[in-house]
Amino acid sequence: PDEISVGELASRMKKTGAEVVKCLMKNGVMASLSQIIDFDTAAIIAEEMGCKVEKEVVVTIEEKLIDDHKDEDKDLVPRAPVVVVMGHVDHGKTSLLDYIRNAHVASGEAGGITQHIGAYQVQINGKPITFLDTPGHEAFTSMRARGAMVTDIAILVVAAEDGIMPQTVESINHAKAAGIPIIVAINKMDKPEANPERIKQQLTEYGLVCEEWGGDTIVCPISAKTGMGVDNLLEMLTLTAEVGELKANPNRAAQGTVIEARLDKGRGPVATLLVQNGTLKQGDIIIAGTAVGRVRAMVGDKGQKLTSAGPSVPVEITGLSETPSAGATFNAVADEKLARELVEQRKEEARAKANAPVTKVSLEDLFSQI
Ligand code: GDP
Ligand code: MG
Repeated sequence: PDEISVGELASRMKKTGAEVVKCLMKNGVMASLSQIIDFDTAAIIAEEMGCKVEKEVVVTIEEKLIDDHKDEDKDLVPRAPVVVVMGHVDHGKTSLLDYIRNAHVASGEAGGITQHIGAYQVQINGKPITFLDTPGHEAFTSMRARGAMVTDIAILVVAAEDGIMPQTVESINHAKAAGIPIIVAINKMDKPEANPERIKQQLTEYGLVCEEWGGDTIVCPISAKTGMGVDNLLEMLTLTAEVGELKANPNRAAQGTVIEARLDKGRGPVATLLVQNGTLKQGDIIIAGTAVGRVRAMVGDKGQKLTSAGPSVPVEITGLSETPSAGATFNAVADEKLARELVEQRKEEARAKANAPVTKVSLEDLFSQI
């Protein structure tokens, strides 16, 4: 709506392309018939040629369906930080996540820790923190490639006896690109060969200077095996989160990101969703990429049945028409018919894209395969 091709402009003004090109040239714009010009340029040319242009107001199905109005400050309330644990393979990401989960799930809670969904929430000194428990940073990368901002803080795990490795560097780059604070956890401190000073030195090469050396990077020595230092790490996490003053509006249609999804033989598509704004309710119609459906069953990270979930709460749901991709955004919507229309439109666009010749692959595309 804000731009038009020279050829299209000519045909709408019932002029020849040559006339329009000439007029453009007179105004210092060299353009061919297929070239796209902006609204303001088109308006000047049209006026000179005795026509008037009006902006078409096109409302897409997406705009009609998805409520993406900006929240007003008065509607915002604090929400839990969403934390991702990153680092090189075998440096202890899973061990740390497991330690935190086990240490902070009260025994006797529904389902205990047997349920394993892609994210969980724990209470640290009465304050909730949501951890993404995704298999490494593949998911994080694909989410970022889609422009989804999911995480608020990154914990960078570096094994004390091993040091900075290729995926450590990659993790640093991802977190920096996402603009989120990095807290470093030097792990495996229980090992005799642990050398945290060496790691701190290495970190400086990547712009991460620890506080004791005058920088502003929080570095916590820990052992995911013995639990040494983990409470301190969690405390640093809550402090960092407080600085961020993270807020959301629970009183609107839910929106968020698909953390992971799979096809279950009995239950059909099962998706772990992170609600990022609004409140998701059982029975809501949701759309996620080309998947659509009503939230049938909703369970929390401890296997407990839920009927609603607010901001920063991870849930596992069933009821979608197909398995959405990890990293896709989802929205709760009011109009099921329109939602199905949008899904059809998206599928059509995906088909068209698949048929179009590939012209270039970005570096980001290449790296996201790692
Ligand atoms: P990930 O690939 O980053 O998820 O690493 P894992 O959590 O799977 O850990 C890799 C290996 O390191 C496993 O054998 C863990 O038992 C071990 N490990 C993790 N954390 C520690 C730790 O703090 N101390 C020791 N000694 N071993 C650890
Ligand atoms: Mg792991």
